Amino acid sequence: PTNINDYTSVVEADKAHIWHHLSQHKKFETSDPLMIIEGKGLRVWNQAGREHLDAVSGGVWTVNVGYGRETIADAVRDQLVKMNFFGGTTGSIPGANFAEMLIAKMPGMSRVYYSNSGSEANEKAYKFVRQIAHQKYGGKKHKILYRERDYHGTTITALSSGGQDERRDLYGPYTPGFVPVPHCLEYRSQWGDVDDYGIRAANAIEEVILREGADTVGGLILEPVTAGGGVIVPPQGYWDRVQEICKKYDVLLIIDEVVCGMGRTGTWFGYQHYGVKPDIVTMAKGVASGYAAISCTVTTEEVFNEFKSDAADPLNYFRDISTFGGCTAGPAAAIENMRILEDENLLENTTKMGEYMLERLEELKAKHVLIGDVRGKGLFVGAELVSDRDTKEPVPESVAQAVVADCMKENAVIIGATNRSLKGFNNTLCFSPALIATKSDIDEIIHAVDGALTRVAAG
Ligand code: PLP
Repeated sequence: PTNINDYTSVVEADKAHIWHHLSQHKKFETSDPLMIIEGKGLRVWNQAGREHLDAVSGGVWTVNVGYGRETIADAVRDQLVKMNFFGGTTGSIPGANFAEMLIAKMPGMSRVYYSNSGSEANEKAYKFVRQIAHQKYGGKKHKILYRERDYHGTTITALSSGGQDERRDLYGPYTPGFVPVPHCLEYRSQWGDVDDYGIRAANAIEEVILREGADTVGGLILEPVTAGGGVIVPPQGYWDRVQEICKKYDVLLIIDEVVCGMGRTGTWFGYQHYGVKPDIVTMAKGVASGYAAISCTVTTEEVFNEFKSDAADPLNYFRDISTFGGCTAGPAAAIENMRILEDENLLENTTKMGEYMLERLEELKAKHVLIGDVRGKGLFVGAELVSDRDTKEPVPESVAQAVVADCMKENAVIIGATNRSLKGFNNTLCFSPALIATKSDIDEIIHAVDGALTRVAAG
C-alpha cells in the first residue's frame, strides 16, 4: 500500500485470491474478511486499526506466550542464517536441544519425532501403532479407538479418528480400522445422574475393546481435556480406569496434547494432572506458540525399541519421513518459547488465572440463565449455553455465534465457540487467552460476555 496504514489493496487481494479456512465465502461478497495485522501481548489490531483483546490465543489455542516476542524472533533468525534446513536422516542443534528440554518435562517419555502440524503428529502415532501391529501381531492388532467429540486433525486419516461431525461429514469414505468410544461429558451423561460417571465412561471403552476383540485393538487416542468438542474436563476416576484398561488389553495409550500441551492447563501437559503414563504423546500448537510450525510425536523408549533391531531385520525401522520436520526454525522457536514459560512462571499464572476465570464465569452463570455449565482447567475454559437449565436443551446454533459476534462488535473481545452442527452440542463458548493473562484481562473478557449475554437474551 502507498499509505502504510491503508490496507485496502491487501483486503482486495485477499478477497480475490484467498480461500479462508473454515469459511463460507458467500458472506465476503458483502463484507470484508477480518485480517489481523499486528499483535502485542494479548492484543491484536485489525486492518482498520481497531484494537482487540484476543481471548483465544490466535483463534485456535496456539499463541501461549503472547504476541510480539522479539526473543523468539531473534532465536529463529539467528538459527536460520546459520542453518535453516537439512532434512532426511540428519539431526540439528536446536532439534537435539529442544528434544532434551522437552523430555526433561515428561518423565517416562524418551524419544521425539518431529513434523509440522497436529494432524501429522497424530498420523505418526497411528503409524507407530500400525507398524507394531504388523511386526508383532501379524497385522491383527491394528484398530485404533477414538472418542466421540474429540478431534485429532484434518487429514483423511486424522478425520477417520474424528468425533466431530461438522469436520467429518462430507469427506468419507474413511480409513478403516478406527472405532469410536463414548464421550465423557458428565453434564450430558449417557447414564443419567450417577455417582460413578467417570468409571462408567471409562468402562464403556472396555466394552468397545471386548466387542471388537482385544486382539484387534492396538491403540486408543484421547485428548486430556477435549477442546473443540466442548471443553470437556474428564470426570473423577476416568483416567485411572482408562490406564488400567489399556494395560489389561495391551493397548497403546496415545494422548493428544495438541491443545493442552505447553502449559495451557497449568501443567506442562494435560495428562500430568491425572498421573497417567502414556505410551505416545502428540503436541503442536503451543510448542512454538505459532512463531514457527512444529509438532512432536513423543514416545517411551519401549515404543521406540519396537523399531530398532540388529541386522536380522533391518527394515523394521520407522519408514516415515517429513520434509519440513527437518526445519530448524521450529525447535529454535520452541526452545525460546519454553524458556519464556519457565522464566515468567506462566504455568503458575495459568493455574491462578484459570481459577479466577472459572470463578468469574460462575458469577455470570448465577446471573444469566443461558449458561448451563461452566468447566475448564487452567486457561482453557468453556461455558455451555442452554435454552432450558432443567432439560439442558441446547440453545439454537445461532445463539452461541451471536454471543461471539456481540463480544467482537461491542467490546472488541475475540472469544470462540465450539463447532457448529455438533448434533446439538454446538453451544459452548470457549476462552483460552495467552498464559500471560492478568486479572484485568479476564475482567475485560467477562465484561464483554456479560453484556453479550444480556443483549442476546433480550434479542
Ligand atoms: N488435535 C487437536 C486436539 C486439535 O485441536 C487440533 C487442531 O485444532 C489438531 C489435533 C490438529 O492440529 P493441526 O491443525 O495443527 O493439524
